[in-house]
Amino acid sequence: MNARYLTLAAAYRKRFGCRAKKIPLDAGSACPNRDGTLSRGGCAFCNAAGSGTGLYHKGFGLRAQWDRLAAPARARGEALVAYLQSFSNTYGPPARLAGLLAELAALPDVAGICLGTRPDCLDAEKIALLATAPVAHVQLDLGLQSACDATLARIHRGHDAACFARAAQAAAAAGIRVTAHLMAGLPGEGVEDFLTSVDFVSALPVTGVKFHNTLVVAGAPLAALYGTGDYVPMAREDFIAAVCQGIARLRPGIAVERLNADPAPGELVAPAWAADKQGLLRDIRARLDAEDLRQGCRLAPDGLS
Ligand code: SF4
Repeated sequence: MNARYLTLAAAYRKRFGCRAKKIPLDAGSACPNRDGTLSRGGCAFCNAAGSGTGLYHKGFGLRAQWDRLAAPARARGEALVAYLQSFSNTYGPPARLAGLLAELAALPDVAGICLGTRPDCLDAEKIALLATAPVAHVQLDLGLQSACDATLARIHRGHDAACFARAAQAAAAAGIRVTAHLMAGLPGEGVEDFLTSVDFVSALPVTGVKFHNTLVVAGAPLAALYGTGDYVPMAREDFIAAVCQGIARLRPGIAVERLNADPAPGELVAPAWAADKQGLLRDIRARLDAEDLRQGCRLAPDGLS
């Protein structure tokens, strides 16, 4: 743990005994919130790229991506974690997931795997497949975004907070590490709503959390709301306050894997301040220092976290 919070680097060093690197891979996965199963519009903040590189559909299989993208970290002697980042990687029939897991486990020098997905794309059969994958470290990046069901409905997530809780508990019970994704500045939410979501995940058996500022990106439904003035992004100062207070409300032992969102090149519509990632990180750390905030120093008073 650094002076203020447990970083992913520190958590991975403890886990693997050395520096570790997540290698982002694209498995060509789909999403039920885009293919018409739940909806075709997707979550309000997401565009058709789904946070992905699109490499799979450009003809690069997992092995080809791995050979190219893992080379620098391998040369540095780092532990390599294969990370399926884009879309919902446990969506579809269990046989597809089984095939993906076999392919990932066969990647040269793979030390662990991490799959990004939605909580409603996990059932007992898929959790059993993940738990028995032939790799020592299995992690899920699980989207929640907000613990408020009204917000989840407003942003068209297609699942509620209880669905996330069930998936996180079932995965953790099977020995799978779970990282929760939360967003500050979602439509209709302020700093206190974000802190309520932090309390919610803090009370669950998650091992990591990623904080994101809500971005308006080109092509996402939120861009239309922003254009008509029906969505106003969170102010930079409020986001800094949300992250710093969120760290203070977060159960110690949960790795803080991200402090802010990374807009894809050319996609950011608003807020403009999100483009200066390094300046934002600097000011978050300065605020933690100025207010002497440490992870868990202000746990929710009800004892849940
Ligand atoms: S954010 Fe994830 S769950 Fe939502 S539409 Fe995009 S890919 Fe699907």
